[in-house]
Amino acid sequence: MTPNRWAALLDAMIEALCLVDATTLRIMAVNQGLVALVGLDHNVLVGKPIVELTVALEDLYFWEDVAAGLADSILSESLVRSANDVAIPVERKVSRVWLTPDEPVYLVGMRDLRQQRQAEEQLESRMAELRATLESTGDGILVTNTEGVVRHYNRRFAELWNLPHGLLDSHGDPALFAHLAACVQDEPAYQDQLSRISSDPELQCTDVLLLRSGRMLERVTLPQVSRSRVVGRVYSFRDLTERLDAQKRIEALAYTDALTGLPNRLLLGQRVAVALRAAQRNGATFAIMYIDLDRFKNINDSLGHSFGDRALMEAASRIQQTLREVDTLCRVGGDEFIAFLQEADAIGAEVVARRILEKLAQPFVVDAVNFSLGCSIGLAMYPVDARTLDALIQCADTAMFRVKERGRGNFRFYQPQMNVDLLSRVKLDHAMRQAMERGLFRLHYQPQISLCDGRLLGVEALIRWSDAELGNVSPATFIPLAEESGFIIAIGNWVLNEAVRQALVWQQSGRPVVVSVNVSALQFQQGDFVERVAKTIGDAGLAPHLLELELTESILIRDVNETLSRLHALASLGVSLAIDDFGTGYSSLAYLKKFPISKLKIDRAFVMGLPDDEGDRAIVSATIAMARALKLSVVAEGVETAAQRDYLQSLNCEAFQGFLCSPGLPATEFEHLQASLPM
Ligand code: C2E
Ligand code: MG
Ligand code: MG
Repeated sequence: MTPNRWAALLDAMIEALCLVDATTLRIMAVNQGLVALVGLDHNVLVGKPIVELTVALEDLYFWEDVAAGLADSILSESLVRSANDVAIPVERKVSRVWLTPDEPVYLVGMRDLRQQRQAEEQLESRMAELRATLESTGDGILVTNTEGVVRHYNRRFAELWNLPHGLLDSHGDPALFAHLAACVQDEPAYQDQLSRISSDPELQCTDVLLLRSGRMLERVTLPQVSRSRVVGRVYSFRDLTERLDAQKRIEALAYTDALTGLPNRLLLGQRVAVALRAAQRNGATFAIMYIDLDRFKNINDSLGHSFGDRALMEAASRIQQTLREVDTLCRVGGDEFIAFLQEADAIGAEVVARRILEKLAQPFVVDAVNFSLGCSIGLAMYPVDARTLDALIQCADTAMFRVKERGRGNFRFYQPQMNVDLLSRVKLDHAMRQAMERGLFRLHYQPQISLCDGRLLGVEALIRWSDAELGNVSPATFIPLAEESGFIIAIGNWVLNEAVRQALVWQQSGRPVVVSVNVSALQFQQGDFVERVAKTIGDAGLAPHLLELELTESILIRDVNETLSRLHALASLGVSLAIDDFGTGYSSLAYLKKFPISKLKIDRAFVMGLPDDEGDRAIVSATIAMARALKLSVVAEGVETAAQRDYLQSLNCEAFQGFLCSPGLPATEFEHLQASLPM
């Protein structure tokens, strides 16, 4: 039988086949399958040495062995060389067959493995992707088959359950499951749930496991389905511990009021705590303001809550606009706000309160509805009124309540009497006005003594009021009241006239004395204040240098430009300017440098502790050094002991004032004292 006849038989098979001559090892016949596989023509293939189709060394050795009579068959995966020298993966079988009893040939059969390889590679890469996905999730994943045999778990799973290294490799599934069970706090419940899950292959459920380590895991379990058949189960574990912690942090961080976005009471508390600590060191003051919207309830009731919310937001934003960046506005309840005015004094707080009243009095338009709101404000000052935030809020609230009682739309400072006897304030105010009419006010004069040579440098005029019914009323009591009611203007004018009159008497007597007059902020702000001073000294014919005006630091910070021009106008009259109670307000060098001021008066509060108190020593010596740098002279107030005086002297302080020398005295008594002082 010729190979050509075999060719027909070979062609009938779907595998790639060829016959190889046992002696020459050349191809005798091929089928269509091989032609298609290697891409070489029938003619080209027939007669070709079979080794020309081989690529793998294994095949080469095999054919050598065949030639040497050492081998006659092989079955394995190999490669075949194709037309363009590409190696095609194949499964190849070579067998010796006897076509005739004396004529063995080799039948070579090949199965193309390309498709299978491709499928395998695809599967491989998909598995790799899957593994990467499993590893990249934040959840721990455990996959089992339907029998509960572990098929896979990711690293996160091992982490969450704190799996000992190599647990699974060395001990198998039971050890793994025992480890998991030992980790949970409630093992019986855990086992119950596991048996429920394993008894129902289709069960999907979510539960939470508390581990002994304190970790909290959310477990989600789902059947794994392939071609609509359950083939296993996937467990995923998510660590809730961190999320819960984060949630707590977020809650702790929730420092803002949701509606207005303003800081809430918590944040206010923190800011005030910082300010309180600082104030204890630097003696700063601050204000707490309680703001309650008037008529808000009506709006809420008649126009609805969502409208009310928008009105609130608008009100909040208006109030916020009146504050400085360092201040804190916080909403404490429905229509109530608290403002914390950092380093503000009473004057500064009053300015803010007026601005808020003005802003809120302007008509509101929300959703094309016009309405008016207005508010009532209570003010409390640190440290005068109270020394803790809660107590300050309480004071401000009391003051606010008084405003409400008195017809709303206004502000009020807290007064201790508010709680005790409001009537007495009204009475005092009335008595004060009567005292003015009846001429019951007097001026006393307290000497200022040079620390260098003990000479008299000037006197401070201090108002005195002796009332038939009330007795001696301290200016510390009635001046603040007069400032609040505005009556201070009348008092101030009287003091100025009286002081100038007395100074003129001394000027004319040939023993001129510089007289210092205390000026209230409200008085200083009167549009005609400079004119009035000019007219008073002008009319009297007093040498301007014999009048000194004592201003408080709070005056200086109000409207800097306006203040500056006013101070320059006063200075150009020839009167001198001093800062009173230095250190209790805005002790800012920047201000001092700008203003035409010649003297600082160190407040009694800092002199009191001298020479022992370290803090007072530091403040006083720094103030004196600073004043020297700014070419200002310094008067220390409230000097009561020789030790205080000596210490101040050692710091080169220019002058002192205080009971050590003399309290304020009526003019004639002062004149006696003056006579005993060195000229
Ligand atoms: P001030 O201007 O700081 O006046 C100094 C105060 O300290 C005075 O209290 C004075 O009597 C007191 N003082 C003086 N030396 C000593 C001392 O050695 N020890 C002690 N413990 N105190 C001493 P006064 O007269 O009660 O006045 C209190 C405040 O009232 C003044 O503080 C000033 O702010 C205000 N005041 C007084 N007279 C007037 C005035 O005519 N117009 C205005 N606007 N305010 C005035
Ligand atoms: Mg004074
Ligand atoms: Mg003073």
